[in-house]
Order: sequence, then C-alpha cells, then structure tokens
Amino acid sequence: MAITKKQIDAYNASLYTLYENLQNDLIDEICSHFRVDAPPSAMDEWRFQRLAEMGGFTRSAVQIIAKRTGSAPALVEKAARGLGVATVAADDAKYKKARTKGYFKTTPVPAASSAGFQRIVKESTRSATAYLNATHTTALQSSKKAFTDVTNQVYLEVTTGVSTYAEAVRKATRKLADAGITGATYVSKTGRVTRSQVDVAVRRMVVTSNSQLAGQLQINRAKEWGSNFVETSSHMGARPSHAVWQGKIFQLEGHDRYPNFYEECHFGQGDGIKGYNCQHDFYPFFPGLSTPAFDHYNEKKNNAQYAAEQKQRTYENAIRTQKRRAVAARATGDAGEETAARVKLGQLQKALREHVERNGLYRDPAREQIGKKVTALEKKMRKENKP
Ligand SMILES: [Zn+2]
Repeated sequence: MAITKKQIDAYNASLYTLYENLQNDLIDEICSHFRVDAPPSAMDEWRFQRLAEMGGFTRSAVQIIAKRTGSAPALVEKAARGLGVATVAADDAKYKKARTKGYFKTTPVPAASSAGFQRIVKESTRSATAYLNATHTTALQSSKKAFTDVTNQVYLEVTTGVSTYAEAVRKATRKLADAGITGATYVSKTGRVTRSQVDVAVRRMVVTSNSQLAGQLQINRAKEWGSNFVETSSHMGARPSHAVWQGKIFQLEGHDRYPNFYEECHFGQGDGIKGYNCQHDFYPFFPGLSTPAFDHYNEKKNNAQYAAEQKQRTYENAIRTQKRRAVAARATGDAGEETAARVKLGQLQKALREHVERNGLYRDPAREQIGKKVTALEKKMRKENKP
C-alpha cells in the first residue's frame, strides 16, 4: 500500500481545519470594524477613524495568525513521519515476501531508522514549514489590504451616492468574503498573477509535498533493498495524460526490460506521477514473482469519473464561500445577509450529497466540515489503510 491523496488528507485533516479557521478568523476580524448597524453621521470622520484603527487591526491579525498557526510545524512533521512510516512499512512487507522466495539475499536496516529516511523526512518538513511561514506573511499583507479596500470602497460609494452606508458595507464585505484571504501569489511567465486563498494554498502544498515525500521514501527503500522495478497503480477518474501509463511496469534505472519510470511517468515533476493533483501510487515489482495487481482501466469510463469529481470540487468550493459570507455578515451585524448565506449553504450541501450519491463518489468531510467528523474520518482512514 503506497500513499493515496485520501490518506494524505486524513493525516492532515487537523492542519486543513486550522487554515480554514485562520481565514475565517481574519475575515471576522476585518469585518467587525464595519458594522452595518452603526451608520456614521460624517463619512470623512468615519474614514479617518477606520484608518486610525489600522494599527490595532494589524496587531490583532498578527496575534490571530500566531495563535492559530503555532501548532502547524508540529502537525506537518507528525503527518510526514506517520505517512512515511506507513509507506515504507507497506513496501517492506512486499520486499520481505519476495525475500522468502529467494529474490533478495540480504535484508537492509529497518526502514524508519535508515539515514536516508530521516534525511528525506527532515528535508520535507523543513521546506513545508518554510512555505507556511511565507504563507503567513502573505496572509497578513492580504488582510491589511482587504481592510483598506473595504474602507475605500464604502467611503467612495457613500460619498458619491451610489449606495447607502449599509448597502456599501454589505457589498464590500461580501466581496472580501468571496475573494478570501490570499495565501500564495504566482506570477506566470506571461506576467499573469494568480492568487490562492490561504487554506487552498496550504492544502495544495501539503498534498504535493507529502506525495513527493512518499515517492522519495519508496525509491530510497528500493535502493536499500537493491530493487529496480515498480508498478504504477490505476484508478477511475485519472486525467487522460496519466491514464496512458497507469497500471504498468517500469524500471527505476535504465530502460532495457521495461520503460524508465522517470522518463515515462515524470516522477519529481509537477505534471508527473505524485505531482500536482496526482492520485497515483507505485509499488515494488519483482519480475517473475509478481503478477500485475491493477487493471488498465477503460479510458472513456475513466474520463467520465474525472468530470464527476471535478464537479464535486466545484460544490465544495461554493460551500466554503457561503461559510465565509456567513462569517462576514455576522461580524458586520447583518442578520438578513447571514440568514441568506446559511440558506444557500444548506441548499449547496444538499446538492453535493445528491451528486455524490448519484455518481457513487467518495465524500471527504474534511473539505467542507470541521470538528468531530474530521477526527472520525482520520480514524477510519488509518484503519482502512493498514497494510
Ligand atoms: Zn496521476
């Protein structure tokens, strides 16, 4: 059993919840400075007061980030180590079985105590923590900018007569809730700027980082055993460019007997196996001993499943947006808006449930819920993933 994205999500559920809560707390803190039920008598004075509150707001935001994320590095390391141990233990069971059949002559040192294992886990944790620190800096800048943007938008709309004060606050804070707090900014080669919300950025980094970690540990272990062949997993819903190599045999070095793993599956690259959004695994393979464990799926059926899962992600994102709108409306004292967001939230949750049932999809509570259910999922995943 190698590591799947679902397992990664289960091991990191607490970290995801932490960053979703962080984003909601920052939105709450910003919006609490813009109460709809306190219309000002003079807008210039109102604007001056908001800008005077900026220093206090910044200190609060720094405290919120520090308080919310204090446990993040420990959570990252715990998940990396847990996933790492599970990954190599599962492969080791296969190597040991192959050894009883005369495939290997010696057994290497226990997996988790090897120097390679320790180095790879440490390096992965170090770079993930550095990424989180950069995310916190971006989130603070984004929060300060959001505070100023709301102030300016409300001021402009009220003084030009476009909106009443309450309408202007509603519009500006809803815009903030929809956009969320930025956690990562990418500038493409063509200069196009893409922003990701803080929780989305963290989740994407964790999934990619843990997938790569698992793959590196597996390859390290294969070298320790002196094994050169791997088999890729296959699953319904794989993207077309990965469907071509799923469920096949490769070799880690050379390409005389089977195609080369790095050349065909692009291990270590963003578009390859265990890269962005990839849910594929690979397993040790012993020519003459193993029989391929995976079917090479029908590609048409595979693509239909992929489309259904993409639609599921769209529902999950819409649910998170309505939650942020509810937070913003409550903080501004806007009861009508809060109710509207909660009604929409209920409808979306119902639609998602139906879509998941109709298409027989896996519903991941960590993506849209917090608290008890996440812990239950984590336990369930650990049980299921015992080798
Ligand atoms: Zn893949």
